[in-house]
Amino acid sequence: MALSKFVWKDGKIIRLRNAKVNIFSPSVQYGWKGFEGIRFYDTEYGPAVFCLSGHLDRLLDTAESLRMKVRYSVKELTEAVCRLILRNEMRQGYIRPDVLYAKAELGLRFGVKNKDNRRELNKITVAIAVASWDEKPGSDTSLKAKISPFVRIHPDSTIVGAKISGHYVNSIFALWEAEESGYDEAILLDYQGYVAEGSAENLFVVKEGVLLTPPLGTILPGITRGAIMQLAIDNKYEVVEKDVYPEELFDADEVFLCGTAMEILPVTSINGKLIGSGKPGETTKFFTELYKNVVRGRMSKYDHWLTYVKDYT
Ligand code: PMP
Repeated sequence: MALSKFVWKDGKIIRLRNAKVNIFSPSVQYGWKGFEGIRFYDTEYGPAVFCLSGHLDRLLDTAESLRMKVRYSVKELTEAVCRLILRNEMRQGYIRPDVLYAKAELGLRFGVKNKDNRRELNKITVAIAVASWDEKPGSDTSLKAKISPFVRIHPDSTIVGAKISGHYVNSIFALWEAEESGYDEAILLDYQGYVAEGSAENLFVVKEGVLLTPPLGTILPGITRGAIMQLAIDNKYEVVEKDVYPEELFDADEVFLCGTAMEILPVTSINGKLIGSGKPGETTKFFTELYKNVVRGRMSKYDHWLTYVKDYT
């Protein structure tokens, strides 16, 4: 992944090297920053962004949870993303919008208090970068996962459903620990010992043809998770959101992780124990293929999930 030449910052397209931020801003100092990760794909009708409005809605929700007043609407940000893709002349890639408080202010009492004595942040910087995305050949990659000794952040410690930069310290510790122990990915449990999610992916279990997935509450409400749940319902699968015990992973027929970046990937072993046959299962393969076709605009039924860049120019 390489960042492209141009970025969008507060209404203007500028060169990446000119997009600077003060290191003493609370966003840098404390991770008080929201962001998104979005993908766009090369379709028959040119580049198209998958679930752009869902991602931008989540970005604005995250900003609100951080008391940030963003002065752009979803429509304006949609136009910004599309213009930026065109300007960088890219056909497929990754989009990284950020909302941050760029003013240099030390201490935790940053921003201003409004008349209700509530702290708020006004001069919010919105920045959008795009990066190239090289498709990895072969769709049959699978993951060896490890249940992490790092527990997913407690829902009473923060606003856990928001995509806040500071939360990722937790994900990074978990992922690095898993990698350094010889695994590909971490599975984090929540504070009660139930399965939460991967370092940057949601998790599904397949058991006797039923899809089980941890409920909202301790996880990030993933856009991919939501799309898979809809695709499952449309294909007559039963989907159950329920607390998942770690033992249920080992007893599963299949386990898969899903997220914008990795799409859908089978987990074929956890802590060295094989899941199901130890090979990608049929249900996972079905959803992997279906999702690949949907995001690449090959399924007209799901065209409403795509934003075609050409429509915004
Ligand atoms: N959980 C976490 C912690 C994540 O960072 C991500 C990636 N945004 C996901 C789940 C998957 O979310 P999405 O499908 O929206 O990419």
